[in-house]
Amino acid sequence: MNIRAYFKFWKESWKYKTSLAVERYKSVYNIPYETLARKGVKLLIFDVDDTLTAYHDRVEEKTRTLLKELTKSFHVALLSNCTAKRREEIQQMLPDVNVYISQENDKPAPHSFRSIIEHFKAAGENTAMIGDRLIVDLWGALQGGINHRFLIEPYSFYYGGEKAPVFIIFLRALEKKLFLRTKLTSSSP
Ligand SMILES: [Mg+2]
Repeated sequence: MNIRAYFKFWKESWKYKTSLAVERYKSVYNIPYETLARKGVKLLIFDVDDTLTAYHDRVEEKTRTLLKELTKSFHVALLSNCTAKRREEIQQMLPDVNVYISQENDKPAPHSFRSIIEHFKAAGENTAMIGDRLIVDLWGALQGGINHRFLIEPYSFYYGGEKAPVFIIFLRALEKKLFLRTKLTSSSP
């Protein structure tokens, strides 16, 4: 994680009038991907821990199937602040899924997001970022020029598995309490 970028948000938070999260969904399984495709979204960037998996946990079959399905319509990338070892493990858990795993672990610094957009020769307008952290994932994405920013509830909250360390649970809740103005989309399945 890029601590300097993270604190830059706290220092300048009064400036941000734009909603950090454009929409909120219960989980990655509830996002209307077909609608995104119709809107011209070409690249999906997912956070990993507590977004696609529980915290530092395995990739479940349901998630592997979802990612595989999404690669038929989108470029799919993973962007996590995890260690190189964890990235390697994730790669091994997705042997037959054509996802791009970024080697950056510098969220919320904007270049982490830009490097993926440039890798796919995409643009901020046709890119979506999906994550469980309002500042690390979505403010970072906003700084990186990404238009479609979706906040989901922590994976482990609904689907069990390993929970994040207490200080992350605390910060995540605090960020939402202070800066989240987007309502949960209740029409999602
Ligand atoms: Mg996360």
